[in-house]
Amino acid sequence: MTLEDDAREYHREEPPGKIEISTTKPTNTQRDLSLAYSPGVAAPCLDIAEDETMAYEYTAKGNLVGVVSNGSAVLGLGDIGAQASKPVMEGKGVLFKRFADIDVFDVELDLADPAAFTQAVAAMEPTFGGINLEDIKAPECFEIESDLRDEMDIPVFHDDQHGTAIISGAALLNAVDIADKELENLNVTFAGAGAAATATARFYVSLGIPRENITMSDVDGILSESRAEAGELNEFTEPFARGVDDGDLEDAIAGADVFVGLSVGGIVSQEMVRSMNDDPILFAMANPDPEITYEDAKEARDDTVIMATGRSDYPNQVNNVLGFPFIFRGALDVRATEINEEMKRAAAEALADLARQDVPDSVVKAYGDDPLQFGPDYVIPKPLDQRVLYEVTPAVAKAAMDSGAARKEIDLDAYREELEA
Ligand code: NAP
Ligand code: MG
Repeated sequence: MTLEDDAREYHREEPPGKIEISTTKPTNTQRDLSLAYSPGVAAPCLDIAEDETMAYEYTAKGNLVGVVSNGSAVLGLGDIGAQASKPVMEGKGVLFKRFADIDVFDVELDLADPAAFTQAVAAMEPTFGGINLEDIKAPECFEIESDLRDEMDIPVFHDDQHGTAIISGAALLNAVDIADKELENLNVTFAGAGAAATATARFYVSLGIPRENITMSDVDGILSESRAEAGELNEFTEPFARGVDDGDLEDAIAGADVFVGLSVGGIVSQEMVRSMNDDPILFAMANPDPEITYEDAKEARDDTVIMATGRSDYPNQVNNVLGFPFIFRGALDVRATEINEEMKRAAAEALADLARQDVPDSVVKAYGDDPLQFGPDYVIPKPLDQRVLYEVTPAVAKAAMDSGAARKEIDLDAYREELEA
């Protein structure tokens, strides 16, 4: 059987799909039912009507995330529509549950218009403790997320933008250290100027890379001031327009310390890798085929090449599942009003720190006994490392409390113990 046929079978098996609702309270007696529903349910309703935060005490809101999409940029499949995106959104729900015990309603909205989409999602605030926007195409995704963050008092997080930024940011913090480079002196070049690339570039700036050291290219070449003047850029790409001659990726990558690929497969040659600075760092994250393969990048030169991709079959997989479950877990548990820059940075730093610790045997075994030791081929933790839950989650909760985003203060030591149990 092919993977495709296996996947069809997996999804079709009774009951169809991957998720169901289960109840958490007794429903055996008439009395149970009159507590669960009418007339008993009126009491919690009236309490919430008086104080909305009581919704966190009496309903599932505080552990419920809406995974919301319009199906306009699904995986690498493009604009396949809301209905066709449902297996992906159910799948995201599976990951939230599996990694952080968060419940998800997947919500597929047949709304291409950003204003209509934003209005629909904003109206769902009473239902959810947080909103994970998923697979919405650029540039609409920027406006949608930014408007929803303004309008809603619960976390709104577009994972395709920030997930990649945070996980690759963690990898960057460690890679820079291994290559003996300084963030403030790094010359960074991006291939791609879409949802993931622009969010990642903004996050790298917040980690300490000077904005003027970043060059971005899209399919038409380097984002330059002349292209900005010609009106080719939007408000999200324009801040990265450089006062350089128009050129292409080949020009931009020469002399770079770091290459960040969030574009399409196969566009970087070994010659281009050779044109980079000493001990180059390459995060070639186009899926399923990276901008350059792991083997080709490593073979291109004799000094240390630190390479990450989106793939599970090579070292340093930048996998979003290292981020969103734990970022939302931490945010929900302090009833955060948002996922802010401080919380994102805390997640990246906690992931980076974790990669420096010894790896338990159970994790090594899950990955086929390859030694996992901090170094060029291990700069980020592995997705199945259970320690990510209790290292990253409390760091995010702490950053939420420290930055004023938390509506609830918690004891972090007790919290960490709870997560470890
Ligand atoms: P997107 O919004 O469609 O952006 C794609 C960008 O790549 C656009 O700026 C596009 O330029 C540019 N591009 C296309 N062909 C190019 C070329 N030949 N040279 C230079 N730039 C080129 O998509 P996205 O959501 O940001 O995702 C981009 C890629 O990153 C995808 O392959 C995706 O799978 C991958 N990704 C990986 C991870 C991960 O590994 N964790 C996470 C997120 C995304 P134009 O705008 O000019 O067309
Ligand atoms: Mg996605």
